[in-house]
Amino acid sequence: MNRLADPIFLHHAKLKATDACHYCLKPRCDAMHMVIKSPQVQGIWQLVRRTCDALLYPRTTTLCMVISGIRGKKETEVLANFLISFARSTIYNITIKDIENDKRTPNFKDIFTTRIKKRIITELAWYRSKDSIEKFVAWWGINNVFCSLNKDKCLTWGECWEEN
Ligand SMILES: [Zn+2]
Repeated sequence: MNRLADPIFLHHAKLKATDACHYCLKPRCDAMHMVIKSPQVQGIWQLVRRTCDALLYPRTTTLCMVISGIRGKKETEVLANFLISFARSTIYNITIKDIENDKRTPNFKDIFTTRIKKRIITELAWYRSKDSIEKFVAWWGINNVFCSLNKDKCLTWGECWEEN
């Protein structure tokens, strides 16, 4: 866990006035609270867990997987692990900036979904330009969880992602 997002550490180092969570103001919060437990990140983790459940079916995503990542070399495990790391680094990124600038970003989940979708759209454009769209489908199209391409090769978001 990164100490730049750890109110207890920052408070002891005299870099932050209190050891409370920057968002929900709960006292004595560490980086684990900021990144995994605080209310403002629950939207991200619900989406990540639904997506990972769909990728790893019939396994379900545990809190332990969310905290330490998923060990395994199957494509579905690698993709689920990518999503978990991406969520964690997005949350760290926003939290550290917010603490530094004394800001409170209202909607973490919107930023996260926008970043993932941008990445998928960019990769689709890349594979299209290389004429190897089947490579795009083999990765981002696994079980149609993130997305699929219709018969006109247009992108359709998967069930977990369409409303985000
Ligand atoms: Zn909190």
